[in-house]
Amino acid sequence: PTALVWFRDDLRVRDHPALRAALAHGPTVALYVLDEESPGIRPLGGAARWWLHHALADLAASLERLGVPLVLRRGAAAAIVPDVAAQWRADYVVWNRRYGGPERRADTAVKSLVRRAGRQAESFQASLLHEPWDVTTQQGGPYKVFTPFWKELSARDHRHPLPAPRRQREAPEPAAPGDSLEDWGLTPRGPDWSGPLAEAWTPGEEAGLALLKDFLGPDTAGTAVAEYPEARDLPGRPGTSRLSPYLRWGHVSPFQVWHAVADRRRAAPEGSAVFASELGWREFAWHTLFHHADLASVNLRREFDAYPWWLPSGGRSRVKHDAGRGRPREASPAVVRGDAEANRLLEAWRRGRTGFPLVDAGQRELWATGWMHNRVRMVSASLLVKNLGIHWRLGERWFWDTLVDADTASNPFNWQWVAGSGADAAPFFRIFNPVTQEKKFDPDGSYVRAWVPEYGTDAYPQPCVDLAESRADALEAYRELGRGS
Ligand code: FAD
Repeated sequence: PTALVWFRDDLRVRDHPALRAALAHGPTVALYVLDEESPGIRPLGGAARWWLHHALADLAASLERLGVPLVLRRGAAAAIVPDVAAQWRADYVVWNRRYGGPERRADTAVKSLVRRAGRQAESFQASLLHEPWDVTTQQGGPYKVFTPFWKELSARDHRHPLPAPRRQREAPEPAAPGDSLEDWGLTPRGPDWSGPLAEAWTPGEEAGLALLKDFLGPDTAGTAVAEYPEARDLPGRPGTSRLSPYLRWGHVSPFQVWHAVADRRRAAPEGSAVFASELGWREFAWHTLFHHADLASVNLRREFDAYPWWLPSGGRSRVKHDAGRGRPREASPAVVRGDAEANRLLEAWRRGRTGFPLVDAGQRELWATGWMHNRVRMVSASLLVKNLGIHWRLGERWFWDTLVDADTASNPFNWQWVAGSGADAAPFFRIFNPVTQEKKFDPDGSYVRAWVPEYGTDAYPQPCVDLAESRADALEAYRELGRGS
């Protein structure tokens, strides 16, 4: 008997139920498919491709220590997985589940093709503490509000991480070798922008577990997790775990995090509870994606379809329609700008040249390191969608391309949260003021100084928008939604 384990967003060897099942079955071979062909699967952004390259190199080394070869193939999963199973004569094919719509469709197709070929196929829960269909409200539907969702989920028992796998005694008979990682060209081809990324991160399982251990510290007070409730809002301090890309790529499992945090409950009761609830937001984002597969393209609260956010010409949303009368009506001109002006603002935002130092610091941190502090993500996103009147989908796409932790649930979920159109979203009228936020959360200016060294000199741009005016325009456009326009 030979087992094939198909790796996806679970690039680790510890606490990996599919790998464990494969090794228990017989000689095991591993597969990773770079799938840019299955319908609807979102191609990875640039920063994610860089991460994946290094993550796969790390995974291959870990698997080699277990005696498990890793085969790399490129193409549609439904074509590749059955093919590799046949080449290696695997009678058992396993993977850990995914929860996005197109991913689930691809996995269902693979499962039936594998079974049709007379092989056994099995999938496991590994990337979420909960199965999204398994946690429902009393009425049996999905949760729309975070607090009761997390109350329900955090009261449950979650399985302990699995024991570390042991080296397999016998490798499968070698078959077709697959692609070489270098040939995939995942790292930048033209100008190499990856230097600061490599300084900021070490993709892979060991590095992720080490971060978790550091953050939680020994079982005493005074650790990062104990200070988390206050420190997590200060971008100038290393107050958060920075685990997001490790969770995104599955180097670290939520079960490992959940139990490691639970072990700190005595030493840091408040910190561990607040930190665990952040893991809860991750679960909630995936819960929402499972029930709304089009989260990245459709407002969850459909009344926002009429909000006059700017999209490039040809996009909808530039002209509002009078409901019931079907008469198109120009939206408030201060919110809906001409294409040239909106493009200029969008570009200033992307490049960190808005003239609002906290936002610019965040956008530059993102561009350089592939990560941005959560507080700054919220302020920066709010400026784009509320003050600049640009559609959240454009901000979401930029983050998708530049974040090393971008995932198909958390990214659109949080953009919709900031925009006000999402699940349990921030109320629309809560418009962050980037100047007050800077004073409050970067009081000594250390964050802004680190990323915007020219702040305070003539080289720094003037604010690209009048905060008070644009805020008033946004609120007016929002009020018009309420009038059913
Ligand atoms: P910590 O504060 O240490 O939190 C621990 C873990 O909890 C994180 O690693 C993450 O897995 C999870 N988490 C925390 N906050 C959230 C949240 N609001 N939503 C979902 N999970 C959360 N996070 C992503 O992982 N991927 C994204 O693509 C992403 N896009 C975002 C876009 C916007 C506009 C905003 C406002 C937030 C986004 N976030 C995203 C959430 C959050 O900013 C990051 O998870 C967090 O900054 C990661 O840093 P950390 O690991 O140090 O977080």
